[in-house]
Amino acid sequence: MRHIPVFAFCIISAGAFAQGAARETLDPTVTEVWDLKPKKVTAGVNVGEAPSDAIVLFDGKNLDNFTTLAGAPAVWEVKDGAFTVVKGAGDIKTKQTFGDIQLHIEWRSPSAVVGDGQGRGNSGIFLSELYELQVLDSYESPTYSNGQASSIYKQAIPLVNATRKPGEWQVYDVIFIAPKFSDNGRVVTPATITVIHNGVLTQNHTTIIGPTEYKGFPVYKPHGKASIKLQDHGNPVSFRNIWIREL
Ligand code: MG
Repeated sequence: MRHIPVFAFCIISAGAFAQGAARETLDPTVTEVWDLKPKKVTAGVNVGEAPSDAIVLFDGKNLDNFTTLAGAPAVWEVKDGAFTVVKGAGDIKTKQTFGDIQLHIEWRSPSAVVGDGQGRGNSGIFLSELYELQVLDSYESPTYSNGQASSIYKQAIPLVNATRKPGEWQVYDVIFIAPKFSDNGRVVTPATITVIHNGVLTQNHTTIIGPTEYKGFPVYKPHGKASIKLQDHGNPVSFRNIWIREL
């Protein structure tokens, strides 16, 4: 019996050799694709700069691309090329709706540390208005792991904590694939999300199990394209340089 592995290895090696010899006779141009061309995109010159095919949602000047949830003009404070949550003004959302996206967004928790845990630099980015990528000051500030920065709130712990100090600008680069539903409302494919936080992978094609819920377990409800919502959690969190590419 102990001769069988050697025997099997000889058969495999002989097969591989024969296949390799046959491969030598093939025309390499048969597997070249020329008639389908990726669209040309001019990348940003600087790191984080919007590429040529991006939709710029905030360029530092105004909140024209956002409204309140009721559709009124957004009144968060715009200053010095960024905008900041105004406590009590409520969540804001993009006027435009999206499905599958690449999103670049920069955020900053307040340099003056106030509160702790979920009360410290809390905001959030709700993809399709429903699925929260948490924004939180998680720099040496304990909270539940599936509620810290870069978590999918109450669902997925980030792979690592890449949070910068309070008052420093941070970056999320996100690939979000929206859930797909059948005509009768069943989930065909759940949403997935990949997040790179300050250049560090924190969510790797994570499956989102349903809409973000503060209490209890999530249950999907069918929806189409939707806005991106930013959360007013009562803390003066700032945002800048927001752009999106539809996939
Ligand atoms: Mg939040």
